[in-house]
Amino acid sequence: MSNNILIVAEGRAEGLKKVSFELVNTAQQLAAALGGAVEGVVIGSNVGAWAEALVKAGLAKVYVADDAGLGAFAPESFADALAQVIKLAQPAIVLFGATGWGKEVSARTAAKLDWGLVTDCIAAHVENGALVLTRPIYSGKAIAQVRAKSLPVMVSIRPNIVPPVEANNPAAPIEKVAVTLKEPRAKVVETVVKAKSKVDLGEANIVVSGGRGVKGPEGFAPVQELADTLGGALGASRAAVDAGWIDYTHQVGQTGKTVAPKLYIAAGISGAIQHLAGMSSSKVIVAINKDPDAPIFKIADYGVVGDLFQVLPALNGEIKKLG
Ligand SMILES: Cc1cc2nc3c(=O)[nH]c(=O)nc-3n(C[C@H](O)[C@H](O)[C@H](O)COP(=O)(O)OP(=O)(O)OC[C@H]3O[C@@H](n4cnc5c(N)ncnc54)[C@H](O)[C@@H]3O)c2cc1C
Repeated sequence: MSNNILIVAEGRAEGLKKVSFELVNTAQQLAAALGGAVEGVVIGSNVGAWAEALVKAGLAKVYVADDAGLGAFAPESFADALAQVIKLAQPAIVLFGATGWGKEVSARTAAKLDWGLVTDCIAAHVENGALVLTRPIYSGKAIAQVRAKSLPVMVSIRPNIVPPVEANNPAAPIEKVAVTLKEPRAKVVETVVKAKSKVDLGEANIVVSGGRGVKGPEGFAPVQELADTLGGALGASRAAVDAGWIDYTHQVGQTGKTVAPKLYIAAGISGAIQHLAGMSSSKVIVAINKDPDAPIFKIADYGVVGDLFQVLPALNGEIKKLG
């Protein structure tokens, strides 16, 4: 085992996800403390462009497993491929994004290699030579510090916790890894692409969310309008999703997406602990609620006690005037 940190990059059709470059940032801090290097791995089919994006992120080396069997979402094969790259790279720590993809693939890879995995972390540092991870527990009610008893270990880190590194460094060498993949037991037989949201909720700098207070699907119109004016993404509480007013892909919270934008505006959302679990790390929180005792006001930086159907259009109009 080396002292190196290996980050597992994650991509989609448009290119590598921002979280890949955030992982490099965390890895660089850990590598400085451990005296190792930061390496990256890209897996998939026809992922030359992803590898080209990652090589300039200031890494010592980028492993690339490019195989037709890694094209569709195939978690068993991804874990197969990653296990082979990890055996080759011999890192002390492997970092994944705590995204849907990362959660699925990290668990499988850790089980395959019989490594420990600390999930959903919001910070990582080295203390007296030991890796210490910080992770929210009980839906964010408490924060636990977890010390890895030994290395190697795998860790998944929430997106939007640290800034991404710039990808303008000299290119790192690429090592192509020819992986042998077992026939997966589950295969994707069809992919149905949903109508795309204008802005990716998980990566947005601004999120405007609506809850049960919007009262119906049409009540999301002023929420969406403000999100559009601000160039932000549309979020929702589970109550609104469960009522069928908006698609699950917009759900923020314990059983939805975790977001940490610069600005989070919650309209008609009471502030249940399970909702807060997904947005309490936002930099500035604005709450609009007609109930002055709504729990959301306890964590809001700015609160407006009022009817969202009056406040949102008024806010939208004033922001539009600013150009
Ligand atoms: C295991 C588990 C997991 C869960 N996961 C999630 C999750 O991921 N995300 C999530 O959000 N929830 C989650 N929940 C549900 C959570 O407990 C709450 O039920 C939910 O967040 C409530 O949504 P809400 O705030 O929109 O609705 P409510 O609690 O009903 O609040 C509606 C708010 O709107 C206000 N309001 C009403 N009309 C207006 C108006 N005209 N103008 C302004 N304000 C108005 C009301 O004063 C009220 O505060 C989970 C629950 C469980 C048990």
